[in-house]
Amino acid sequence: MTLTGDLLIGGGRVPATAGTMKAFNPATGEFIEPEFAFGGPAEVDRALRLADEAYDSYSRTGLEERALFLELIADKLEAVKDELAARTSLETGLPAAQFEGEAVRTAGVFRKFAAVVRQGRFLQAAIDPAQPDRQPTPRMDHRLQKVALGPVAIFGASNFPISYSVAGGDTASALAAGCPVVLKAHNAHPGASEIEGRIIQEAVAESGLHPGVFALVRGPGNEIGEALVDHPLVKAVTFTGSEAGGMALYRRAQQRPDPIPVFTEMTSVNPTFVLPAALAARGAEIGTGLVQRGMYNVGQACLKPAVLLAVEGPGYAELREAAVTEVAKWDARPMLTPGIHDAYTRNAQRHQDNGAVRLGEGTAPEDGAYGQALLLEVTGEQLLAEPTLREEVFGPTLLLVKLSSSEQLLEAARAFRGQLSATLHADAADRTTAEALLPVLERRTGRIVFNAFSIPQEVSYATTHGGPFPATSDSRFTSVGMGAIERFIRPVTYQNFPDELLPQALRDGNPLGLWRLVDGELAR
Ligand code: NAP
Repeated sequence: MTLTGDLLIGGGRVPATAGTMKAFNPATGEFIEPEFAFGGPAEVDRALRLADEAYDSYSRTGLEERALFLELIADKLEAVKDELAARTSLETGLPAAQFEGEAVRTAGVFRKFAAVVRQGRFLQAAIDPAQPDRQPTPRMDHRLQKVALGPVAIFGASNFPISYSVAGGDTASALAAGCPVVLKAHNAHPGASEIEGRIIQEAVAESGLHPGVFALVRGPGNEIGEALVDHPLVKAVTFTGSEAGGMALYRRAQQRPDPIPVFTEMTSVNPTFVLPAALAARGAEIGTGLVQRGMYNVGQACLKPAVLLAVEGPGYAELREAAVTEVAKWDARPMLTPGIHDAYTRNAQRHQDNGAVRLGEGTAPEDGAYGQALLLEVTGEQLLAEPTLREEVFGPTLLLVKLSSSEQLLEAARAFRGQLSATLHADAADRTTAEALLPVLERRTGRIVFNAFSIPQEVSYATTHGGPFPATSDSRFTSVGMGAIERFIRPVTYQNFPDELLPQALRDGNPLGLWRLVDGELAR
C-alpha cells in the first residue's frame, strides 16, 4: 500500500487543511516519508455529519451483515500484517515481530466481536408480555433491547499502535454495537494509522455500507480532539492516554449543553503483592518474572506490574537479587516518542528524588530517546508518606517496596488509587493474609491475578480492563474484552407495540433465534 498521508473521510481521501507532519523514527532519530495531513474542526464536522447520516442505516444492519463486515476487517488486517508491522516498527522503534503478532491478535478480536454480534446477546432482549387480567392493574406488553448510542469519537493510543489504535478493540466494539466511528489518530504512528484506516474504509465500501461509518482525522495539538469532544453529533468518546489528557477531555464533555459519556483509560501501577509463604518458596522466580513482564513494550504498557510489595523476610533478598540480575540484561531501548521519553526520565528521577534507592539498571542509553531499565526500592513507610511513589512512571522502571509487616502490607494496599489490575502471589499458608487483602483489592481494581502477572491479558468474555478512577473514568465498564461493547449501547423499551413495528429481536416467534429474557426467564 502506498501511503498518501491523507485524512480518510466519507470513503475518500482528504488532503491537508492545517499543515502536515512526518512520522518520527525513535530508533534513529530521523523523520520518515511521506507528509501526513493535518485537518481541523471543519474536517471533524464533515466526518461527524457523515457519521450521523450513516447511523440510521448502520445501526440497523442485520446481525449477519454486521458480523461479516467485522470479519472482512479482520481478514484485511491479517492480509496487511507484514506491511503494517514493518511500518509500525519504524514508527515506534519496537520489533516488527511483535506487531505481526499484535495484528493477528487484533484480527482475532474483530472476529470475536463478529461472534458477539451473531449471538445477539448484547441486545439484551427482554420481553414482559402483557397481563391484561393482572390485579389490581393490568400490565401492558413491555419489550426491551439495547440500541447503538450514535457516532463515537475514538482517540487512538500511542502505546499499542494496532490493538488500541485505529483498527483496535475500541473501534471493533463500537462498530459491533452499531456505532459509526470517527477516529482521532495518534501522531506517534501516522503511517500505521493510515494502513489500518484504509483497510476499514475498504471494508466499509466492499460491504456496501454508508461511507460515513468510518473516518480518520488527525491534527496538530489539542484543537482537533477538542472539536471532536465538543461536536453536538458525537454521542460517546473513548480515550487511552495520560490522566491529564483524559481528564481534560472528560471535563470538557461534561460541560457540553448535552453531556456525553467519556470512557477514559488513564493510569495504573498494577500493584503486585507477594505474601510471605510464596516469597519464601519462590522469591527469585517472582523477581525474574517481574522484570521480564515489566520490560514488555519498554515498560510502556498500561498493565505493567510497576510496583511489587513484599514483607521483608525469607525470600526477599533472593527476589531482589534475581530482579537486579534480570534488569541488568535489558539494553536501553527507544521509547515511543521524544515526549514520552522526556516524561519517563523526569518521573524516574522524581522517584529517586523522593527517596527511591537505585538497586539495578540496564545498559545506559547512548543518546536520543532511549529509555534505560531501572529497578528502584523504597520502604513501606516511604511509600505511605509520599503519594507520588504510588504513581505511574510510564516506561521501564520498576519499584520494589520492602514492608515491615502484614499490617503495613494492608495499609499500603489501601493507599493506592484505582487500578486496572492487582496481583497476588500466595501459597496455602498465606490464606489469612490473602483473605484480608482481597476485599481491599476488589475495591480498588478491575482484575485480580493470582500467582501470575498482569501481562499478558486475554481478550475474552470474562476480561475486565477497567477499574476505579484514575485507572478509568467509569469503573462500570471495560475497554477490553467482549464486554467493551456495553460502552456503546443503551436500553430502549417498546411498550404496547404491534408485532410488525417491533425490532426483529423482540418479535413474537423470535425470528433471530436469540436467547431472550421472557418474563424473567432465559428462553429461546
Ligand atoms: P496523551 O498526551 O494523553 O494523548 C493521547 C491523545 O489524546 C493524543 O491523541 C492527544 O493529542 C490527545 N489529547 C491529549 N490531551 C488532550 C487535550 N487536552 N485536548 C485534546 N486532545 C488531547 O497521551 P500519550 O501521547 O499517549 O502519552 C503521554 C503520556 O500519557 C505518557 O507519558 C504516559 O504517562 C501516558 N500514557 C499512559 C498510558 C497507560 O496505558 N497508562 C498509555 C499511553 C500514555 P495530541 O497528541 O495531538 O496532543
